[in-house]
Amino acid sequence: MKTVGILALQGDFEAHARALRRAGAETRLVRKTEDLQGIDGLVIPGGESTTILKLLREEKLLDPLREFGQTHPMLGTCAGAILMASDVAQPAQESLALMDLSVERNAYGRQLQSRVEQIQPEAEFERRTHEGALEAVFIRAPIIRRTGPAARVLARYQGSAVLVEEGRHLAATFHPELTQDSRVHELFLKKL
Ligand code: GLN
Repeated sequence: MKTVGILALQGDFEAHARALRRAGAETRLVRKTEDLQGIDGLVIPGGESTTILKLLREEKLLDPLREFGQTHPMLGTCAGAILMASDVAQPAQESLALMDLSVERNAYGRQLQSRVEQIQPEAEFERRTHEGALEAVFIRAPIIRRTGPAARVLARYQGSAVLVEEGRHLAATFHPELTQDSRVHELFLKKL
């Protein structure tokens, strides 16, 4: 069985641990560089990306995570997607830059503080998981304004990518760990 680490400095890491176990993985909470030893992939959860970034700096985890991401799959959700992106706006902040994405934080404004949407994923996503609408929970979500040439968009909402694959990595601007639909986690486990 594969072991997936979940960055557990801040945010909803426990919900990801439950979702990953449901999808058939072992899990380990990651708080220090040593915790990266022996895991097959890593999830960066939602939360507050500025806070997570501050804690990553304090724990000296930024470079170890960048290195880990050169050779292992990572899934970033919401704040985690912001940390995975190469370019962050509103306000600009440092990131791991593991995916060629431009994101704008809190970009739905008051219109979408928190909302559950049924979205129709791309056929590619359904082919690799199974069919059906995706229940997408958005909480102060970013908008992906640009995807790089190597990106594969697996779901869109209001015309913007909300689930993107680029090489070994995945980023979602919504919270797949908060629903019973395990397909995003299952897809991630297939990449390990
Ligand atoms: N608004 C948060 C940020 O900018 C992300 C929200 C979330 O992860 N649910 O970091």
